[in-house]
Amino acid sequence: MGTDTKSSFDLNKLVRENVKKLVPYSSARDEFTGKGSVFLDANENPFENGVNRYPDPLQRIVKNRLSELKRIDPQRMILGNGSDEVIDLLFRAFCEPNKDNVIICTPTYGMYEVAAGVNAVEIKEVSLDQDFQPNVDAVLAVADEQSKMLFLCSPNNPTANVMEADKVIGLLEQFPGIVIVDEAYVDFAPEKSFADKLATYPNLVILQTLSKAWGMAGIRLGIGMASPEVVGYLNRIKPPYNVNGLSQDKALDLLKNEDSYKDQVDCIIKEREKLSVFLDGLTFVKEVFPSDANFLLVRVDDARGLYNFLLKEEIIIRDRSKIESLEGCVRISMGTSKENEILKGALSKFDLKK
Ligand SMILES: *Cc1c(COP(=O)(O)O)cnc(C)c1O
Repeated sequence: MGTDTKSSFDLNKLVRENVKKLVPYSSARDEFTGKGSVFLDANENPFENGVNRYPDPLQRIVKNRLSELKRIDPQRMILGNGSDEVIDLLFRAFCEPNKDNVIICTPTYGMYEVAAGVNAVEIKEVSLDQDFQPNVDAVLAVADEQSKMLFLCSPNNPTANVMEADKVIGLLEQFPGIVIVDEAYVDFAPEKSFADKLATYPNLVILQTLSKAWGMAGIRLGIGMASPEVVGYLNRIKPPYNVNGLSQDKALDLLKNEDSYKDQVDCIIKEREKLSVFLDGLTFVKEVFPSDANFLLVRVDDARGLYNFLLKEEIIIRDRSKIESLEGCVRISMGTSKENEILKGALSKFDLKK
């Protein structure tokens, strides 16, 4: 295994043969360039109602706005019906069913394993270390010829911490396949995105989403960032109109308001710090893990009991206690300050019962 991925990286060796050969579906809107005013090419209903036309398959206007916000060339972006769709596209582009494998560092986001299962791709699990950091040597040791992708989630769901940059870089340099850094929660972290490393590492794919900090989980819009070549392959295999017109319009509208996004992120981070201190003072709480995300991972005496108690109070949290190395852990997303006050009241009540 070479140490200089940059010069030895050969994308063509990783992409599936069928994907290389594929002639993508060419939609009506792809086939003309120039200016049209009478559109008789797509069998649409001509009567205007706001949604009678097919949307832009490449979401150019949304990408241009994202490009301003994230300082990434639109050529390096693929948008999906949530980043979950981009994860699925990556499997379909790079992993031969019943032959290739991918590596995940556990505990982590469940969708990687689900997408692998759907695509009949083996998952190799390597445990995060006791600080929930990736074990670079262990990952490289289990990687084989068939290991096409490595998933790193930073900040990681559900452990809430960012991966150390030198570990991520070590893996980018030495892992022989595609390294995906899932930054769904990067807006809440003090560390910056790996997006500025895209030009250096052709094997880097970054995932971001409008579902968390930008408050648009309901429109399903995820962002993949990669080399223009990787983006080109993903564009070939994606469903032509994978991001619907209403979602594109709504995204553009809400992406105008960067100030409100920033205020909300600041507020969520403050709430996180306040709740963390409060939780630390409760007798049934064993550990509040440091968080770089919009949620807290908390180890308690009786995770199931707490979960059920809060459920009766109509407060829903996530019980993560069945996951290996997360014994006794629950995950709590940050609400508004009012919601967090309600939570605190219930937690105090639970504490008194103990
Ligand atoms: C929430 C989340 C996503 C976002 O998924 P979308 O499909 O974009 O809503 C991606 N990765 C991780 C780790 C997440 O927790």
